[in-house]
Amino acid sequence: MEIASLISPHLEGLDAYEPPDWEAVAARAGLSPDQLIRLDANENPFGPSPRVAGVLSRYGGHGFYPEYKALIQAIARYAGVAAESIVLGNGGDEIIDLAVRAFVRPGEAVIHCPPAFSMYAISTVAHRGQVLSVPRRDDFSLDLAGIEELAQRGTADARAKLLFVTSPGNPDGGLIPRESILRLARLPLAVVVDEAYVEFGGETIVPLVAEHPNLLVLRTFSKWAGMAGLRLGYAVASPPVVEAMTRLKPPYNVNAAAVVAALATFDDLPAVQATIARLVAERERLQAGLASLPGVRPLPSQANFVFCRLDAGSGRDLADALAMRGILIRSFSEPGLADAVRITVGRPDQNDALLLALHSLLGGQAPAPTSRTPLRQAAVRRRTGETDVAVTFSLDGTGQTAIDTGLGFLDHMLAQIASHGLFDLQVQARGDLEVDEHHTVEDVAIGLGRALDEALGNRRGLVRMGHAYAPLDEALARVVVDLSGRPYAVIDVQFATPRIGAVDTDLIIHFLETLAVHARLSLHAQVLYGRNDHHKAEALCKALGRALDAATRLDPRRQGIPSTKGVL
Ligand code: PMP
Repeated sequence: MEIASLISPHLEGLDAYEPPDWEAVAARAGLSPDQLIRLDANENPFGPSPRVAGVLSRYGGHGFYPEYKALIQAIARYAGVAAESIVLGNGGDEIIDLAVRAFVRPGEAVIHCPPAFSMYAISTVAHRGQVLSVPRRDDFSLDLAGIEELAQRGTADARAKLLFVTSPGNPDGGLIPRESILRLARLPLAVVVDEAYVEFGGETIVPLVAEHPNLLVLRTFSKWAGMAGLRLGYAVASPPVVEAMTRLKPPYNVNAAAVVAALATFDDLPAVQATIARLVAERERLQAGLASLPGVRPLPSQANFVFCRLDAGSGRDLADALAMRGILIRSFSEPGLADAVRITVGRPDQNDALLLALHSLLGGQAPAPTSRTPLRQAAVRRRTGETDVAVTFSLDGTGQTAIDTGLGFLDHMLAQIASHGLFDLQVQARGDLEVDEHHTVEDVAIGLGRALDEALGNRRGLVRMGHAYAPLDEALARVVVDLSGRPYAVIDVQFATPRIGAVDTDLIIHFLETLAVHARLSLHAQVLYGRNDHHKAEALCKALGRALDAATRLDPRRQGIPSTKGVL
């Protein structure tokens, strides 16, 4: 017996979703896979909230099946609906699959509006449905009359059961007007409105689900929350639809890590939303940069990507030429899209690299990099027999932190420095606290100092000096820093007690001295007066964060190394 003869023949009509072979692409460009700039899959280049790494490293539930109640409630709150309206999926992809299985029997029809996300058709064919296409117009608007005609054609039994539309659209980034969705909702079929990119622009139609039980809204954590690798999506739908999809889905379709990560994302929502705002600002900058290239016509976008038509040459050729330079963008084999590319909005340095590469391929005016390049960030890992310290640090952050050193007061000090300096800081440290806290405090200071030194790079263009006063109730601290390259610390503080929490007060002074040495800066830190030791130490950290914020800024008037010696 041939095993192939047992495999269902309808699968022959199914094209597998093939992700690119990163290693081969990188090898052709002479790079390692982690050097590639991946602007082809609409991922979030900033990744998830730094808290995600923190909670996952502490998570102890991997051996147990996950529990979804808290996540469903958190999503319901986020989406502004009742928990009974939410069904979880292993990515938005599984929601597509569940929707097809819930509504479509073998032979029945599903309508999609190409160009569209390929999984609508793939899932339909996988479940023996029939795919009907109502192509979108040249400007990517929906052919509403065409959809209505097809959806109402024939007897009730023979009609299409399901329609997929996408807003903001992929690959174009445009919105479907609310009135159009309302028109579609009046049709005698189920309508999935795929809002995978809605956090980047446009208005959600979730509130319409309450009055239109045939509407399903698809959402995902892959894009806005930077969790593509963790696979979490959901649908907002009317309770009978949620019930049907829940009956169909495997019992633990969403993994435990995704649950923990999504809850941490909600806990850090303002910071994640600040990242989205940065991407939206970058989208507008990228759009303008692309428009200034000869023969490139970008469309306005409400998503985290920009679609461009090319006046000459194929999208495939342009994508191949960029891939040879280690930059991946999306081109298309579908009809009508051969002259187009879709570019995911990257980090500022990635967008600059893309614009520069396009400029050298296509000519035109050289783009002015408006981002601060290179990115001023660093990752330091230091393992000794006494400690294991991992620090990631970004000078141009928003004050996001994920810190766990095992010493509550040290975590508090680090968080104060980062949030007052507007640095993104992750610190994971495990030390020999069973001996005492000395090695952990010292090695965290070394790790942070080295990360700061590395993030400062050659220190070109810096303001270089900064100072700040910070009060905390009765205590007043003053910190002056000079990013001089000359390690020196004068720490003038009298603590009245031997410890704050589990940290020896003497070690707080040692922490500041060690930081100054490894960050190669001069640090003068004083508590002018105060009574409470916690207040004194906290005021010092706040003042240090503010002084570092001032000193690490870039001053466009200081183009070179800010020293008469020429080096720092
Ligand atoms: N819908 C659209 C329009 C998409 O572009 C994608 C992913 N590229 C998805 C849904 C599914 O995303 P995920 O499975 O990662 O949630």
